[in-house]
Amino acid sequence: MTLDFDFDLFVIGGGSGGVRAARIAASEGGAKVGLAEESRMGGTCVIRGCVPKKLMVFASEYPDMIADAKAYGWDVQSGPLDWRGFRSKLEAELDRLETAYRNTLKSAGVTVYDARAVVVDPHCVRLADGREFSTKHILIATGGQPFVPQFEGRELAITSNDIFHLDALPKRALVVGGGYIASEFACILNGLGVKVSQYYRGAQILRGFDDEARGHVANQMAANGIAIHCGTDVERLEQREGGICAVATDGSTAEFDLVLYATGRVPNVAGLGLEALGVGLGRRGEVLVDDWSQTAVPSIYAVGDVTDRINLTPVAIREGHAFADTVFRGIATKADHDLVASAVFTQPELGSIGLSEEAAREAGPCEIYAASFRPMRSLFAGRQDKVLMKLVVCATTRRVLGCHIVGPNAGEMIQLAAIAVKMGATKEDFDRTVAVHPTMSEELVTMRKPVRIF
Ligand code: NDP
Repeated sequence: MTLDFDFDLFVIGGGSGGVRAARIAASEGGAKVGLAEESRMGGTCVIRGCVPKKLMVFASEYPDMIADAKAYGWDVQSGPLDWRGFRSKLEAELDRLETAYRNTLKSAGVTVYDARAVVVDPHCVRLADGREFSTKHILIATGGQPFVPQFEGRELAITSNDIFHLDALPKRALVVGGGYIASEFACILNGLGVKVSQYYRGAQILRGFDDEARGHVANQMAANGIAIHCGTDVERLEQREGGICAVATDGSTAEFDLVLYATGRVPNVAGLGLEALGVGLGRRGEVLVDDWSQTAVPSIYAVGDVTDRINLTPVAIREGHAFADTVFRGIATKADHDLVASAVFTQPELGSIGLSEEAAREAGPCEIYAASFRPMRSLFAGRQDKVLMKLVVCATTRRVLGCHIVGPNAGEMIQLAAIAVKMGATKEDFDRTVAVHPTMSEELVTMRKPVRIF
């Protein structure tokens, strides 16, 4: 490609989106690519998000598994978790993944700079050490960071960035927020033996998901021992002798050893120099892009959480890939943001794709199929846990508009159901698929009568 510039592409940010774009542009697009990362390679997902979180989810599930094993007749005893031992294994795993990311970029021929970079002009970036590089294209892939609102005692709270580095597990924890991160960590900490309270300002946690599904998750979380306080926010935090005292908006006070704030994330744009160049930023600071991930400055693109479209790793990867295909491989590709499935790794898990019952009712006539039952495995072990399988169907086209699953491995199940939903499967397509027996997910193809019609 052109050698009028030092680089064809300079990527700022070595997370999921940036790394994918850099690799494809270099290895398949023949571009000369530079990438700057100020922290650790791999970004939020690998270093302080999905990966360590999921390993903590696994760790937190063992006490229940051991209890179930006993119920099945195994002579096993549960002991305390060696948190420090787990943490060092976790750190070693993250080191391994970071190295793998670096090696991938190296073998693709990408030049990596372990430094912060800012944009100087539409074709120039500057590293923290003062070095400047000219580049034909710039990709902003700087991700986001936890947002903590302003309140008295704010400095006493930690965020998800800090949770993986704790020296010891707390005895009592308060989790503030009702979204993915708050709900997942409330469950993780509870599973690890911490006494957990969760304060959420709204009426029900996991806003945006299907009401029945999130109610199901919340009920089960409460049954598992998490004290969920909806309609409750922190007014202030005070350091007391016995711990951190949270004074809540409902007038209550309670003491905790740890307060985790998971009240959303904001795009990492501060100091990048974008606004001065005419790159549009939205109300939350997100970089405004078109369907091609291109900003108002034609040579500058942005992908991933910094654009605040759908803030999920696989979406950032698709956006990065589509950008590289379009700009460096001559294959015009828009990232597809329609019908993106996701899973919340609470206990129980919630897997979801498409419209909620509430959204479908707004959209037009629909039928709701739902089954809630106690699955064989945990029922045998004496648990009362229920799973939920739910399909939202358009009454006119018969298409399955939404699928919501609450239960063990819902994340795995929704991935497969998502293929059918994305293909436009109708309820009748689901029905003519023979059940796999005995499984939980067979309910998805055996629900004959709607429970509600709108
Ligand atoms: P979310 O947007 O999911 O949730 C933020 C929560 O904080 C909401 O409950 C919100 O309340 C509450 N909140 C926001 N501002 C305040 C405030 N000033 N005071 C009190 N409460 C407040 O953000 P998360 O941080 O949980 O996660 C960020 C994103 O990361 C997610 O949206 C998701 O895209 C991604 N993610 C995905 C995961 C997965 O796929 N499993 C896991 C973790 C993260 P309200 O509802 O009232 O607005």
